[in-house]
Amino acid sequence: MAPAIDEFDLIARFFEPLARDLPGAMGLRDDAGALRLPPGQELIVSADAIVAGIHFPKDTPSGDIARRALRVNLSDIAAKGATPLAYTLTLQLPEAVDDDWLRGFADVLDEDQKTYGLGLLGGDTSRTDGPLTLSINIFGQCFENKWIKRSGACVGEEVYVTGTIGDATLGLAIEQGRIDVGNGPDRDFLRSRFFRPEPRVETGPKLLGLASAAADVSDGLIADLGHICAASSLGVELDFGSVPLSPAAERLVTDHQPLGPSLLSGGDDYEIVFTAPERARGDIDVLVRETGVAMTRIGRTVEHAGDESRVKVFDDAGRELEVRDGGYRHFGKKVSR
Ligand code: ADP
Ligand code: MG
Repeated sequence: MAPAIDEFDLIARFFEPLARDLPGAMGLRDDAGALRLPPGQELIVSADAIVAGIHFPKDTPSGDIARRALRVNLSDIAAKGATPLAYTLTLQLPEAVDDDWLRGFADVLDEDQKTYGLGLLGGDTSRTDGPLTLSINIFGQCFENKWIKRSGACVGEEVYVTGTIGDATLGLAIEQGRIDVGNGPDRDFLRSRFFRPEPRVETGPKLLGLASAAADVSDGLIADLGHICAASSLGVELDFGSVPLSPAAERLVTDHQPLGPSLLSGGDDYEIVFTAPERARGDIDVLVRETGVAMTRIGRTVEHAGDESRVKVFDDAGRELEVRDGGYRHFGKKVSR
């Protein structure tokens, strides 16, 4: 067995290089770090922890773990219209973690830091007898009072989602052998949508002034839209047929009638679901052309009464679909699209 790595040595070798572009990180040699914000900006903060065996399979390569951990946090910042600045990293490492594991882990963080423009500000490292646990706090900046909350939606607005929905759920189902798509490009695409989420870091800040409320799609479109509804005290009517699917997902859904895993309630898309008033349509169309990122209208906000479900899903004929067993049914009859 490899000798246990000294913690200070570990930080110096693997993590200090990740702090090089943040002067306030003090080379990870102080008790704390500092972040300076330009005047008129405020700090947007979020945290997400992931645990081996719960959020990722225990044998996942360390680079994939690092990528996922950082990107799920970036997605939260993006959905608020904020720009990432820095993160802290708290690691609880089992004895089995060795140099190779740490190298793979730190290399991916380094790569993603460059891609997304942020640096490592500090952290904590300890050993554990339990599963590997990794917790990230992320810090972003946004113009004061401008960040996009879940609570800003009004009745009579339109609901949009970026990109496509359901790919990661299908990717995970493929990974777990629950769906077979053979070995072609569809398999690669769908798996990578699960293992390599691409947070909408560039798109998020461009929604400032357009979106009235937003959330990232991590728990599933229905659940995350439900969070916006609850925070904004309203409901949403969702058009099942307008939810954007990738060509790969579309092919799979067609082949697997009736629709197996429910794409609308599956998680891990890391897209942004947002609401906007109708007058924002023109600006949103311009944004789509400028960024090349699809933003699809999928429904509208409505008054919400009593204890009905906040997010109602309708088919093309205007009939309400019921969410059940992770699938959608007309009351009584299972449907697909
Ligand atoms: P303290 O005991 O004062 O909390 P530590 O000895 O835990 O300090 O950490 C020393 C320095 O190393 C601190 O600057 C801390 O932010 C940094 N650090 C420790 N672990 C990590 C990590 N996993 N990632 C980044 N920085 C870390
Ligand atoms: Mg400490």
